[in-house]
Amino acid sequence: MKISRITLTPIQTHRRTGSISSHLILQMHTDEGLTGLGEISDLDCYRMYMPDIDAVRTGIERVVLGRDPFAIEAMHAELSKYLHNYFASAPSYPPFTPGSQIAAGIDMACFDIMGKAVGRPAYDFLGGKTRDHIEVCYPLFQVKAEGDYDRNLGYIDDLLAQGISRFRYYVGVDFAKDEKFLAALRDRFGDRVALKALDFQARHYWKDTLRAYDRLKQFGFEVIESPSWREDFEGMAQIRRRIEADVSEHASSAAQAMAMIRAGAVDIFNVTVNSGGLVPVRKLVALAELSGIKTLIGTTQELSIGTAAHAHLGASMAELGAASDPVGPLLYAEDVVKERIRFDGNRIVVPDGPGLGMELDEDALESLRAPLVEWDRAAHGAGYVSD
Ligand code: MG
Repeated sequence: MKISRITLTPIQTHRRTGSISSHLILQMHTDEGLTGLGEISDLDCYRMYMPDIDAVRTGIERVVLGRDPFAIEAMHAELSKYLHNYFASAPSYPPFTPGSQIAAGIDMACFDIMGKAVGRPAYDFLGGKTRDHIEVCYPLFQVKAEGDYDRNLGYIDDLLAQGISRFRYYVGVDFAKDEKFLAALRDRFGDRVALKALDFQARHYWKDTLRAYDRLKQFGFEVIESPSWREDFEGMAQIRRRIEADVSEHASSAAQAMAMIRAGAVDIFNVTVNSGGLVPVRKLVALAELSGIKTLIGTTQELSIGTAAHAHLGASMAELGAASDPVGPLLYAEDVVKERIRFDGNRIVVPDGPGLGMELDEDALESLRAPLVEWDRAAHGAGYVSD
């Protein structure tokens, strides 16, 4: 079987907050009539440098046309000559780049084709299934203005009614407001709400994070994420020695993962398929497992195709050390598949169909088609966080 053509469709979806997210849906066609699905998700954090779709498609085709989708290691070896900034050499934070997300879209489409070719789910190519569900949590964005308190508490009310009760909260724009919000959250919901993590977003000197932790720990959470400057692994190690909660950091490249292991920087690697695909992320998972580090699955918030890739990853992992983060299909009002990946309360239900287990809805894809470049509407992403 050979890859014969690539289709990239730019689409726009709305979050339940009203902000928009742009994605590229990748279809990988083969000479045997099978088509694999991939996703390059939530690109609005790259608004200043959105990719040119024709250039990306031409580049992908240059690498993948004529290749066997089962020979995926060789494909990554070739891809890494064109896309330098993933896995072998990638920035530590944020944990993905346009390059790593393009590689991820190709990689997940290959797994989709492999599964469809033999009638088996993608997790069977990753070591087989160890669990039927992935525990997840829902993101709460930071309180910045007075109106945000009630808005966030209102979301929680709605989500509890849907059986979603585990959350993570972004802190650090204003710790005083964070403290007030978390107090209001515990006042109103008590133990009905579980807080998996506070995410410090790599914005703070480690001693400032430690001071904030001491103020906020009364509200009860299991993990603090990205607690120091992006490559301050020694600062993370300092914090880790001084607190009870687990320290987690995104692991997106071989070198950065090794540096965190050597420094004893973290308890948990936060890994995502967006760091280049299932093949590279499995290597980071193996490094963690062999080093006694726990793992959780992170996200940029994917639609059902990307979330399914995460579900197959999680299904195949021997252990998941904390609740994971992908809940895109709960956040987005629209999707491009006939049946969205399913959630059961705080859990993703692992799909069991062939490949990723998702079927493209061509009509939905067409109706969501939109230019990638969009300046006039609020988006969610670095520097553009809106309500
Ligand atoms: Mg994070």
